[in-house]
Amino acid sequence: MTDRFWEQKSLDAMSREEWESICDGCGKCCLHKFIEDDDEAQEGPTDVIHDGEHIHYTNVVCGLLNTKTCSCTQYSKRTELVPDCVKLTKENLKDIFFMPPSCSYRRLHEGRGLPSWHPLLNRGKKTAMYKAGMSIRGRIISENDADLDNFEDYIVMWPLEDAD
Ligand code: SF4
Ligand code: SF4
Repeated sequence: MTDRFWEQKSLDAMSREEWESICDGCGKCCLHKFIEDDDEAQEGPTDVIHDGEHIHYTNVVCGLLNTKTCSCTQYSKRTELVPDCVKLTKENLKDIFFMPPSCSYRRLHEGRGLPSWHPLLNRGKKTAMYKAGMSIRGRIISENDADLDNFEDYIVMWPLEDAD
């Protein structure tokens, strides 16, 4: 990988290794979220969002996430095991609106560059990301421990925050 390759090429033009390294490991895409319109919350997965609909994030996280490291315990089989797990690829960048504003893929896609806390700019370390409050670490509950009948009690705003 060349230095600051993300400033020289588009997401489309990145190698697999470069693409994977763009993920900052924040874990926000593993939070459960739902789409609500003026009438009621939608049930089940969807891949579109319409005018007047809003994405709500919760602090409930997928049961396959290691809540200490914030990494997927079944990364290679994730989309088989969790059908609504969003696997972002070059082919489905149109779905990037499902990602939180701080998602590094979304930032690059929207021309906002990588933030100063990104591991690529911090010798691969996540400490700056933790300090910036951009990781889910320490503020989540596993779906295995949550009361899913009262899903709305878990709505949180912090996944929508971003910092340069
Ligand atoms: S939200 Fe984006 S940057 Fe963060 S872990 Fe998910 S894919 Fe990676
Ligand atoms: S399957 Fe893995 S990558 Fe997908 S939401 Fe669950 S923990 Fe995250």
